[in-house]
Formats: sequence, C-alpha cells, structure tokens
Amino acid sequence: RAAPMPSLGQLLGGGRYFLISFRDVSQARRIDRMRSDFVANASHELRTPLASLRGFIETLQGPAKGDEKAHERFLGIMHEQATRMSRLVDDLLSLSRLELKSNIVPDEMVDLKPLLGHVCDSLQPFAAELGVQIHLDLPEQAVEVAGDRDELTEVFENLVENACKYGQEGKRVEVQLSAADFEHPEVTVTDFGPGIPPEHVPRLTERFYRVNVEASRSKKGTGLGLAIAKHILTRHRARLVVKSEVGQGTVFTVKF
Ligand code: ADP
Repeated sequence: RAAPMPSLGQLLGGGRYFLISFRDVSQARRIDRMRSDFVANASHELRTPLASLRGFIETLQGPAKGDEKAHERFLGIMHEQATRMSRLVDDLLSLSRLELKSNIVPDEMVDLKPLLGHVCDSLQPFAAELGVQIHLDLPEQAVEVAGDRDELTEVFENLVENACKYGQEGKRVEVQLSAADFEHPEVTVTDFGPGIPPEHVPRLTERFYRVNVEASRSKKGTGLGLAIAKHILTRHRARLVVKSEVGQGTVFTVKF
C-alpha cells in the first residue's frame, strides 16, 4: 500500500521547525553580539579613568616630582577618576545582580508618598548646587504598590537626578504622583531642559547609551542609570514612558 500523504499540519509543522531553529540561531547571535558589545563598552569605560590615573601617577613620579601645586591639583583629578570608576563598578554590579533575580514581582507593599518625599529631600542639595528647584506634588491618600522599596528608590533617584542634571539651570523639576486610577498609579518627572531629539528616545534605556557622551561624563553619568531603571521596572510589571520636546523639556512617566 502507498504511504499515507503527510497532512498539511505535518508539512507546516516541518516548515515551522526550520523557521524556529533559524530564528533561534539569529537570536543567539544577536545576544552574543550584545554581550560582546557590552563587555567592550564596559572595558572602555573602565580603561579611560585607569589610563588617566596611570598618566598622573607617572607625572607625579617624574616631571612633577617635588611640585607642591601640581601634586594638589593632580591628586584632586585622580580622586575624581577613582570615584568615577567606583560609580561605574557599583552600577555594573547593580545590573548584574538584577539580571540574576527572577521576574517575580517583589510583594512588599510600598507607599509611594514617603518614598518620593525621601528621594526629593535627599536630592535637594544636589539640585541646589545645579540651581534647580524640585517640586513634589502628592495626592492626599496613601498610594501603595507591590514592590521593593530600595529598587524603586533607585529608579526615582535616577529619574530625578537626571532631570536636575540635564534640565536647565534656574528652572524647576516637577515630580508628581497621580492616583486618579487607583489600581494603576503613575509618577511623572518633568524637566524644562533642552529635551531629547526623537531619534535618541527609543535607545535611552540601552546600557551605555548617552545622547551626548561628554555631557554625561562631565555630569558624572555612567550611562547605566536608565538601563538599571528599566530592569527594575520590568520586574515590577511597570513601564517607563518618555516624552520629550526639543527646546521644551522632558517627561519620564513610570506607569505601574
Ligand atoms: P547617565 O549616567 O549618562 O545620566 P542614564 O542611563 O541615566 O545615563 O541616561 C542616559 C542618557 O539619557 C543620558 O546620558 C542623557 O543623554 C539622556 N537623558 C536622561 N535623562 C534626560 C533628561 N531628563 N533630559 C535630557 N536627556 C536625558
């Protein structure tokens, strides 16, 4: 007897098998490339302050030996570079710790009102140094979300710090908690700075992505803050939405 004809399902199944394995290979390649880009970026970011430290040490041992003034100035710069490396290592460790954590939503009930109050209070001196005023707008009632207090604090610290750093001197930064929809509270952080050109917006949460690398470095940025924020918010089943208008300012919204 002739062999039965393969069913359409079997035929399509075979086709699908090839398609899936092809996709898996390209996905694996993409992940490999992302991983090696990340290692290259991280090494570059660490190597820059290291090279500068080495250069200053050699100068202090050689041409600037015995020069008191140069000593003081160079030690100041070396301290800054070492601090920059520590910040970078801290952020890299934060990222890798978050990657190891499961995606289970942390279930502590966190009241966002005192949390945001604490974030804004702790950043007031930093904002004042930059000539920025932080305004906090909270609703009457408590607004609780299931989450991890420290992680959420890290997210809002980063957003408010960025709004102060990249906003405009003399202008304000507004932090608003809205619980109009009680089940889905939102926090917006608004600045009235130069804004972000639209082509950069979709890439802001990539690791080491910076609109202007020099501006970020000079403002003590590592380029990892928003990548960390995105990781944390994904764990919390929350979204980060960015709206920006060049010349007007930027609004980062966390939607729980
Ligand atoms: P960084 O450590 O450089 O601040 P982030 O990951 O926190 O890194 O932010 C990534 C980049 O996004 C910044 O370098 C900056 O170019 C841009 N950015 C973030 N927040 C703002 C903002 N409020 N206004 C303008 N640009 C911003």
